[in-house]
Parts: sequence; structure tokens; C-alpha cells
Amino acid sequence: EAKARDKGGMVLIDGDERAMAAQQVHLREQIAQPDLEQFTVVYQPIVDLADLRVRGVECLLRWNQPDIGAVPPDQFIPMAEAGGSIQVLGWHVLREACAQLARWKQERPDHRIAVGINVSSRQLDEPGFAAAVLRLIAQHDLDPELVVVELTEQSLALDFETAVAVVKDLRAGGVSVAVDDYGTGYSSLRYLHRFDADVVKIDRSFISHLVDSPHTQKIVRSVMHMADSLDLQSIAEGIETCDQLALVRDLGCALGQGYLFSRPVAAEEILPLIGPDGVL
Ligand code: C2E
Ligand code: CA
Ligand code: CA
Ligand code: CA
Repeated sequence: EAKARDKGGMVLIDGDERAMAAQQVHLREQIAQPDLEQFTVVYQPIVDLADLRVRGVECLLRWNQPDIGAVPPDQFIPMAEAGGSIQVLGWHVLREACAQLARWKQERPDHRIAVGINVSSRQLDEPGFAAAVLRLIAQHDLDPELVVVELTEQSLALDFETAVAVVKDLRAGGVSVAVDDYGTGYSSLRYLHRFDADVVKIDRSFISHLVDSPHTQKIVRSVMHMADSLDLQSIAEGIETCDQLALVRDLGCALGQGYLFSRPVAAEEILPLIGPDGVL
């Protein structure tokens, strides 16, 4: 059927599309049976906006696929969720993150680093998930408050009641819970209404419009007020410029994360970034 559309650049486009589709199929097959050696975790600092002390890091999964190279998580996480391997990958991240937190605790006992771990709603569906997370934390002798489970509004929407129960169990065990990408879902307030969260992460889409949009500033300011009155910590995501930093500080945000401070880096690069006084 390629012949039938053999006009001008059409065949080339068809070829590209076919190659891309084949690549997607290939990736889907591979991620259904993931080779965990190809998956690594990188860490992005989360800083106190007042003094730039590193308060925590977020764990971000990376897939170094041997034929293609780096596949972005926005591409492979949905595939893993659809293909049923997100639990295996999720446990890989949880194990890596807890082992790393234990190493940091040993190397820098004076500096408490919290670790944000992205958890998909499919993981919350796994029976005994909360208990298994708490066991892992206990095995590494970690302070559970330093483990922050990041849940997106989107992912929560899938099975709300299960998520509510698992979050309750995690928090009963001392684990912190963050609502990720806050403001991008359709029922943000409903989540805060039903979940006892500890942290809200204000989505990068708000931060990137902040400088040009007084309207967005008002929205972010009111989210900060709400977070404050609910005793939630707020983290501004995706701070890339000094102007954005100045603004989120003015708006009352305590913590931030973004390329302005650091890109996600390998685990070994985190402690050197922190410096003797804890400041980035
Ligand atoms: P997220 O949880 O919202 O993670 C933040 C994303 O923003 C990361 O992209 C990070 O590299 C990027 N980022 C941080 N600062 C900046 C900035 O200043 N500018 C810009 N443009 N981007 C910034 P990444 O690593 O590509 O991850 C994308 C998404 O994939 C994550 O969004 C998360 O939803 C998902 N993801 C990553 N790792 C995991 C994981 O281990 N498990 C699950 N379930 N999802 C994961
Ligand atoms: Ca996140
Ligand atoms: Ca986010
Ligand atoms: Ca996101």
C-alpha cells in the first residue's frame, strides 16, 4: 500500500511513521518484561527557597534502552502502566531509593535528606502495598517521614477509594504523601478534601507562566494560602529562571525544584552538591 501513496514526500513520511510504530511495539514488548539493569534512578535536589539548603531530592527513573538509547519516562511509564510491569519497575525504584537514602544517612548523619518517590496508582492497587513499603523502610532503618510518596491527581483519579485507604496506611506508618502536579487535574480540591497529604507540588505549567501572568500569580498565591492553612508544605516545580525564583518566593512558596538549581543527577553527585553547610 506504500506504492499507492507514492507521491512527493509521502513515502518517506510513511516510512518514518512505520519505523516509529515498529519502535513503539519494540519498546512495549521490552517493557512488558523489563531488564532492570537498564533502569537507573537519578535524583533532583529540592531546595529551601529561603536559604537554598537541600531539603530533599526527587527520584526519577531512567531507561537506557540498548538499541535506542535514553527513552523518556513520559513515554515508557504509561507503557509500563498499560503493560502491567509498573509494579516491578516501581519496586525497583522504591528499593533503590531506600538503599540510597540509607547510604546518605550513613555518609551525612547531620543532614536529613527527604526522598520523593513517584508512585503510580497501579502500584497502590497491589495488595499489601503500604505494609510492604513500611517493611522496606524498616529494613533500612530509615525515618519514614523522609520517604515522600508522590501521587499525581491523574493517577489517583483511577481508583479513588483504594488510593485513599493506602494513603491512610502509609501515613499511619509515618510516611509522607505529596500531591504531585497540583492543579493539572480536574478535581484538585477533591483530593485535598479526601486525602491527608503532607505536601503539594505545584505543577511546572503554573511556574512557567508566572512571570507574564498576574492572573497565574493570583492563583499560585491562593494555592499557597490554602496549603498554609491546611498545614501542607508546598513545592514549586520546574523553576528555571531567577525571575521565577523571586516570584515564587514572594508568593510564599517555601520549597522549590528546577533546572535553575540542578538537573536530575546520579546518586553520587548529590552529596557533593550539598556542601558542608547544607547549601547548594
Ligand atoms: P514529575 O513527577 O512531575 O517529575 C518532574 C519532571 O520535571 C521530571 O521529568 C524532571 O526532570 C522535570 N523537571 C524538573 N525541573 C525542571 C525544569 O526546571 N524544567 C523542565 N522543563 N523540567 C523540569 P522526567 O524525569 O522526564 O519525568 C517525567 C515524569 O515521568 C515525571 O513527572 C513522573 O510523572 C514520571 N516518572 C519519572 N520517574 C518515575 C517513577 O519512578 N515512577 C513513576 N510512576 N513515574 C515516574
Ligand atoms: Ca513527581
Ligand atoms: Ca510533578
Ligand atoms: Ca509531571
